[in-house]
Amino acid sequence: MSLRQSVTYLVQARRRGFGSLCISGGEPTTHPHILQVVAAGRRLGFSVIRILSNGFRLAEPDFAGRLARAGLNSVMLSLHSHLPEMQDKLMGVPGAYEKCMKAIVNLSGLRIPLRISCVINRLNYRQLPEIARLLIRLRQRGVRAYSYTYSVYEGQMWKNRELFVPLSEVVPYLNRAMEIFERQRAPLPYLRLIPYCFVPRYVSCVGMDEYTRAVDVTGIERNSWDAVSETRSKPEACRRCVYYARCPGLETSYLSLWGSGEIKPLARFSLLADAPERPMEVL
Ligand code: SF4
Repeated sequence: MSLRQSVTYLVQARRRGFGSLCISGGEPTTHPHILQVVAAGRRLGFSVIRILSNGFRLAEPDFAGRLARAGLNSVMLSLHSHLPEMQDKLMGVPGAYEKCMKAIVNLSGLRIPLRISCVINRLNYRQLPEIARLLIRLRQRGVRAYSYTYSVYEGQMWKNRELFVPLSEVVPYLNRAMEIFERQRAPLPYLRLIPYCFVPRYVSCVGMDEYTRAVDVTGIERNSWDAVSETRSKPEACRRCVYYARCPGLETSYLSLWGSGEIKPLARFSLLADAPERPMEVL
């Protein structure tokens, strides 16, 4: 996409009332016009200008500084393991962990608020408690929010489907990780794409029922509920669940792979007063 086209999309989005710009897809920091796009976002008055990144280029202090001066004011980094060799393996690049840590130091020095996204897969799900300890330590480095995100069963992930792991196997490790956040009195992570019934004690961390408005580069406007619901379905058992109306269910490809036997419909709402605190910031 040319710079002119990108700026035209930004102008149209501002005219339609959108105030946050999130640049993702592939690796945005390698786009030849990323600095100009961020600068255009600032000129047009987007209050949040965020990129989703693997952190490789942000490990270069000069590049991170130029992006900050152009107007970047939020970054979400992918960090999938506390073990350097595992992060390198999952990112497919030697040195990926080290670069991510350098990016965190650079962005923290530039006072750019950081978010971390950890995608759960077969190689890292047993490490979720150790990853929790790392995320808590990284709060001292400017990390404001973090999420455990369940894998999406499409695109690049579908090609690597040997990495898929059923949610029922993940849950014991996820619960142990959540208990570490609680014990250390750290804000809880946001749990993305994990239905309520798998984490009944932490339903306040699940954001399946959000209705954030968004417009993509094609100009199509969708709320986040529609976007998530498109690829999901609810098996018959879900009809007995009190979260039925708030939950888009499980991905249809997930159900075709693992079936619906793991679903345990919830008989009552978890009262927020009884539940742990919500995450400090929704990602
Ligand atoms: S509606 Fe179905 S998938 Fe969603 S929380 Fe309830 S039982 Fe689970």
